[in-house]
Amino acid sequence: MEAGGERYDIFADTVVVTAGAWTAGILPRSSALPRLTVTEESPAHFAPRSPDHAWPSFNHFVDPQRGPIGNVYGMPTPGEGVKVGFHMVGPVVDPDERTFRPVPEQAAQLRDYVAEWFRGLDADTAAPISCAYTSTVTEDFVLDRRGRIVVGAGFSGHGFTFTPAVGSVLADLATDDTARAAEPFRLP
Ligand SMILES: Cc1cc2nc3c(=O)[nH]c(=O)nc-3n(C[C@H](O)[C@H](O)[C@H](O)COP(=O)(O)OP(=O)(O)OC[C@H]3O[C@@H](n4cnc5c(N)ncnc54)[C@H](O)[C@@H]3O)c2cc1C
Repeated sequence: MEAGGERYDIFADTVVVTAGAWTAGILPRSSALPRLTVTEESPAHFAPRSPDHAWPSFNHFVDPQRGPIGNVYGMPTPGEGVKVGFHMVGPVVDPDERTFRPVPEQAAQLRDYVAEWFRGLDADTAAPISCAYTSTVTEDFVLDRRGRIVVGAGFSGHGFTFTPAVGSVLADLATDDTARAAEPFRLP
């Protein structure tokens, strides 16, 4: 590792790799990682029309007959507004080459969605946020160990919510080489 302009070599029995979008580029090919797809998602904050209303967190499964929106999520963010986003619709990107800007058609779709479904939000106030997803095909996380390397990856947009559980599983994997995560999270 490097710190303060100095390079240090660290020797350890076990390494835990949680490098997000960069995981596949760090681990050896022999680690049998499933395909990890990095996409750039662009939820946005919208201003509530009334400061007096409390907003819930929500998930909304939009009927596919109504268009390619699918799963929508949202939550109030103090000081920012209400975050609303489409789940996993963004373009595939190289994590080092992100634009940090929404795809115009998807931003317009999000605005139209908010105008239709959330009359309490001002659909014309969208303040976009850039958010990288690193996703597996099944959206199951990868939590496993190969030799002395433990990996936690592929959180498919849900990593933050499960941080305590993920940390607990990774700690077990790192300190007990017989420990295994639940079956859906194992490497093949
Ligand atoms: C705007 C936004 C909103 C989100 N909201 C939610 C939410 O509401 N709920 C939810 O569950 N999830 C949410 N997520 C997703 C969640 O943040 C991710 O699933 C989670 O952070 C993934 O964790 P990770 O450790 O795999 O990757 P990351 O959090 O990306 O961490 C990887 C780290 O590894 C570092 N790294 C990479 N390469 C190297 C290297 N060679 N050496 C050293 N360090 C390296 C990176 O700098 C980075 O700090 C959101 C994400 C974003 C961007």
